[in-house]
Amino acid sequence: MQLISKLPNVGTTIFTVMSALAKEHNAINLSQGFPDYPISSILIEEVNRAMQNGLNQYAPMAGLPELRDILSKKIQALYQTSINPDTEITITPGGTYAIYAALTTILQPKDEVIVLEPAYDSYIPNIITNGAIPICIPLKYPDYSIDWKAVEQAITSHTKAIIVNTPHNPTGYVWTVEDIHHLDRIANQYDLFVISDEVYEHITLDGRVHESILKYPSLLKRSFVIFSFGKVFHTTGWKMGYCVAPSDLSTEFRKIHQFLCFTCNTPMQVGLAKFLEHEHEYLQLPAFFQQKRDLFLDLIKDLPFTLHQKSQGSYFQMLGYDQISSLPDKEFAIWLTKEYGVASIPVSAFNHNGKDDKLIRFCFAKKDETLIAAAEKLKRLQ
Ligand code: GLN
Repeated sequence: MQLISKLPNVGTTIFTVMSALAKEHNAINLSQGFPDYPISSILIEEVNRAMQNGLNQYAPMAGLPELRDILSKKIQALYQTSINPDTEITITPGGTYAIYAALTTILQPKDEVIVLEPAYDSYIPNIITNGAIPICIPLKYPDYSIDWKAVEQAITSHTKAIIVNTPHNPTGYVWTVEDIHHLDRIANQYDLFVISDEVYEHITLDGRVHESILKYPSLLKRSFVIFSFGKVFHTTGWKMGYCVAPSDLSTEFRKIHQFLCFTCNTPMQVGLAKFLEHEHEYLQLPAFFQQKRDLFLDLIKDLPFTLHQKSQGSYFQMLGYDQISSLPDKEFAIWLTKEYGVASIPVSAFNHNGKDDKLIRFCFAKKDETLIAAAEKLKRLQ
């Protein structure tokens, strides 16, 4: 028996590796993106109540109708777009799953998909697993804006789709209206599908506005737009998200979804549907994370890291370390974890070819005490 690997060049994800290393060395974990503060007790009560009330069997395949209804109202209020909850929203076990399912929905072997790098680490393996070919375009160093000319030049008769992500993990770049206009023209001119990873939709900083594909009908008609409850309600371990796509695309998406996991767990959908009525829980997220980013930047301002650009969104801040070390970024992140007790993510892990701009990514979705303790440990770098 010979198993031919679908992903011969892939190891364990950097998030798992760095979180394990942080644990092993008892380091403060600013690597993997997850909050360390408690979630809302009201949300926990709602889920608990659903379980106590016996809502413990399968939900409908596309997701609980109450949850899809309130999501369509949220979308209407935030993005002034009318989305049919019955035919255009599918609840998924997380955003990463929804991206995989969307790619599987559209891809045929040998199709090409444009990926802007650095890119979240699941995109390329998801494309390869589907027998398709990732075409990687580097974002512009050091602001990580998009080189739209390079994107257009990379398009061939085989290009099927482009994956985009705003606010961007790991760079913190937030799309402008001009970015949307470029994508709109290119996607329509070359007839591309768009997979839009918008899991950090509520984390835009310094007054920036999230330019969701949902606001642009000419793009939305060819898009799968992916969201995550984990990032909105600080529940990354619940693995709950959703995909918004026009009904013809959603119909095909659901054919894949129904045979991948069929449906998502019921009590959490009930709890989330109820909790979404508390609009301020998500409307206050920009202010909540602005305080955290500003605190983090203030804490590290006298340390010898290089701040190329303040994070514009997401809960990540990248920093350069060329004044501290000439190690490659992976080795540097490991060294910092072991010697200084603070774990981060090396940004080269987001480049298929390991391109190393000597940057590490810190997650600031942490208690103030955690950020303060991390800065205290890093003080010895001075
Ligand atoms: N999205 C999170 C991050 O970028 C991690 C998700 C994961 O561990 N796979 O850190």
